[in-house]
Amino acid sequence: MSRLLFISDLHLSPARPRLLERFGELLEAEAGGCDALYILGDLFDAWIGDDDPSPFADEVRGMMRAFSGRSHLFFQRGNRDFLVSERFASETGTVLLEDEHLLRVGGLKVLLLHGDQLCTADTEYQAVRRELRSPGFRERMERLGIEERRALAAEFRRRSGESQSLKPADITDVTQEAVAAVARDHGIDLLIHGHTHRPAIHELEVGGRRVQRVVLPDWRESEPRVGFCLEASGHRWLELPPA
Ligand code: MN
Repeated sequence: MSRLLFISDLHLSPARPRLLERFGELLEAEAGGCDALYILGDLFDAWIGDDDPSPFADEVRGMMRAFSGRSHLFFQRGNRDFLVSERFASETGTVLLEDEHLLRVGGLKVLLLHGDQLCTADTEYQAVRRELRSPGFRERMERLGIEERRALAAEFRRRSGESQSLKPADITDVTQEAVAAVARDHGIDLLIHGHTHRPAIHELEVGGRRVQRVVLPDWRESEPRVGFCLEASGHRWLELPPA
């Protein structure tokens, strides 16, 4: 097995420059050293479109492009950056993944998700999610100017039922029913997702099969644990000591 890295929920924004620095540190440390880095959504605290001309967006694109020249880079959309599209992918050398991505690695079946689709107890959130992910919504957004989109994104976030706060207590957790359903549907050994900001490794049994559920950590300035790592010598948390 090669070295595969999984991160999510960095919530990068111009307001949190230290997190952008830490992302850059991880990319520099791992470029060429890992086989692939999977970003499982909410890389950005908000993404209003691939045509965002801001220096912040440019900086992130440049960092990712440098990395993807040396290791594979994959991106799955989260609920904060669901407008990431093909232009961003081509400008960063990233491969966009579907909302459910199945990976076979070293004899394991691994399912990758952002994780918000598992939070099925929050029916209002799920309704908003369907609206935001519809082709009609994307087309309406594409007709708007960048500043109008910026304002709309803020409003939709207020309506989404997910608080502006990034604390786990303000984000609905997954339901066991939804976890069991995706595990059964795909016959997986391992589920890796983010979104809930409740990092943990859960052991469960679905239809007589042992399944592990890894919940990725959200990023904090002084938190060394930034993701998860699959490699031949074992599975472990991915750490990046704060400088
Ligand atoms: Mn999320």
